[in-house]
Amino acid sequence: MKEMELTSLLAEVESREEELLDLVKDLVSFPTTSPPARNAKEAQDYVTNYLHQLEFEIDRWNLYDNDPIVVGKKRGADPSSKRLIINGHLDVAAIEEGQVWKFDPFTCVVTDERLYGRGVADMKAGMAGALFALRLLHEHGIEPEGDVMIQSVVGEEVGEAGTKSCCDKGYDADLAIVVDTSNCEIQGQGGVITGWITVESPTTFHDATRRSMIHAGGGLYGASAIEKMMLLLQGLQSLERHWGVTKQSDGFPPGSTTINPAVIRGGQHAAFIADRCELWITVHYYPEEHYEDVVKEIEEHLHHVAMADPWLQNHPPTFTWGGTSMIEDEGEIFPSFSIDQDHYGVQLLAQAHEQMFQEPVNYSMSPTVTDGGWLAEAGIPTVLYGPGTLEQAHAVNESLDRDQFLKFTKTMVSFLYKWYQQKN
Ligand SMILES: [Zn+2]
Repeated sequence: MKEMELTSLLAEVESREEELLDLVKDLVSFPTTSPPARNAKEAQDYVTNYLHQLEFEIDRWNLYDNDPIVVGKKRGADPSSKRLIINGHLDVAAIEEGQVWKFDPFTCVVTDERLYGRGVADMKAGMAGALFALRLLHEHGIEPEGDVMIQSVVGEEVGEAGTKSCCDKGYDADLAIVVDTSNCEIQGQGGVITGWITVESPTTFHDATRRSMIHAGGGLYGASAIEKMMLLLQGLQSLERHWGVTKQSDGFPPGSTTINPAVIRGGQHAAFIADRCELWITVHYYPEEHYEDVVKEIEEHLHHVAMADPWLQNHPPTFTWGGTSMIEDEGEIFPSFSIDQDHYGVQLLAQAHEQMFQEPVNYSMSPTVTDGGWLAEAGIPTVLYGPGTLEQAHAVNESLDRDQFLKFTKTMVSFLYKWYQQKN
């Protein structure tokens, strides 16, 4: 009887595919590009309205002006039963100037094989599939035993911690599924933290003093902050190489713990010796590591580099780590997470995937980062599982395999159907 009910639900995903695609088209039509961000209110109104129809309670707050976070919650019949969070972001990668698209990026075009439009792979189709699955269950009067929450966040593309703000508000669960781009593999991720390293001279010298500063007998104790930063850059490279040789983690190619010198700013004018130089670095680390320890390793290593230089030892570099937004305070953190393959819910998801795709699911580690890290950091067992490939995410003519999207949606229906019924 149960199996028949599920079979007919899955058949309905196919017979109502047009409705599912219309949902993607609607979500894509909101130009929620980030940067510039601060443009997701209408998209979130749409999701709020959709969740109201499914009788979810809505909690909503502004992460930034015009960029609200929406959490929908369906209370389970039994408050002691297991709780689920589905998480996704509605912001999409920016359309860079000079990009030429085959179609308008905000008008989703569907062909026999693919969906085209900004955000179809990252990750509006993932959100649409999850929302549609929730709708089907609701329409069939299937209600969860435990609480089910869906977090529709913004800011992910620029490292704004919308998901962290959900965790800070106390949203907790026994499993979180982030339906962001994973090509329908069940993934964990390494972590990322950005940081600023600053070298600063207390005195600003004129360009004409350079001879006295660098040559024998000049007698002027000073330095160019840019040149001193070169020593620190070399130090970072040797640390990066050392990590590449000594650190490893299952699911990652060796040397994934990179330190990228991404942005450098230094000096103020050609008539002066550079009195300040700042370097913005992006650091990747493994799930077994914690960013506080990684940051400590970098600071200690650069401290030794500084101690070996007669000027830097008296003017050591300073550090600013992380941040809450790449566009507000020029920094971000994405914590890492591993997959617990023995978790009941993860196994349920894997079974649902295998049924729909007719092959076992791949477990892997994402080479990029998602909001899943914040949920895991809050102590929630978390997996990344969503349609689309990273090659398509952020690309011109971003597209998604239509068949994969349909199978993803069916996987969500099957998973939720079984999850809904588990008692305590
Ligand atoms: Zn994404």
